[in-house]
Amino acid sequence: YDDRDGVIWLDGKLVPWREANVHILSHAMHYASSVFEGERAYNGKIFKSREHSERLIASAEALDMPMPYSVDDIEAAKDEALKASGLQDAYVRALVWRGSGEDMGVASAKNPVRMAVAVWPWGAYYGDAKMQGAKLDIAEWKRPSPETIPVHAKAAGLYMICTISKHKAEAKGCSDALFMDWRGYVAEATGANVFFVKDGEVHTPLADCFLNGITRQTVIQMLKDKGITVHERRIKPEEMADFEQCWLTGTAAEVTPVGQIGDYTFEVGDLTREIAADYEALVRA
Ligand code: PMP
Repeated sequence: YDDRDGVIWLDGKLVPWREANVHILSHAMHYASSVFEGERAYNGKIFKSREHSERLIASAEALDMPMPYSVDDIEAAKDEALKASGLQDAYVRALVWRGSGEDMGVASAKNPVRMAVAVWPWGAYYGDAKMQGAKLDIAEWKRPSPETIPVHAKAAGLYMICTISKHKAEAKGCSDALFMDWRGYVAEATGANVFFVKDGEVHTPLADCFLNGITRQTVIQMLKDKGITVHERRIKPEEMADFEQCWLTGTAAEVTPVGQIGDYTFEVGDLTREIAADYEALVRA
């Protein structure tokens, strides 16, 4: 991704894509002091942009990084980067991290907090077969307890086990991996939240130890507006045997039907199709 034309917003100005570099002694590289956002623009407008900017600030604060930018500043930066890209439909990546400076140890209070925004085209997250039903592996790693790490921050450090688990899943021919949490309950995929359907009602894990996705919250509201009951609760893995449908939600994933998780299978049913179509209509409204 580094060798391409275009510009990246870096610390207040647009710089040529290939020159948007940081020093190897950046604190973030050594100690994971990095938080980010994944956003999508549709028809030239970022869906739920302010919510993403607010979450970026909350994530930075959770890692004790004083944000040098307000929500309005972040909005302006994203607008500038999106306009400069010339794209109407695009993925927007905002990144905040501790740079290099006086400190090279774990403590980094004197090092600058920096920000970048990059914009690029990104099609269906799980490929062209999006509506066929993705196949998921069950991850060996568990989402950690909220007492061990700031689980609600969208922080780079929380993705270490996501990358390992997704590599393993892809090597087995799966699109992604589903995590259980440290207690053994169903949690989320490596970059998306999960929903299940049974007897016309929807069940989704309580977001008490993982990212409460903006898409997750949007889809829960869409379901409630349709009069569909949504149970946010602790879900045991063996309950997957009784669920009829399953889908993932996320900014990149949007609403992606799931056909299989481990040995459990699901149909790509009417409600899944309806929610996927409604979400697509909503983001473009
Ligand atoms: N969980 C994880 C680990 C993620 O990376 C994402 C994508 N940001 C989500 C859930 C879904 O969040 P959102 O709907 O806000 O994109």
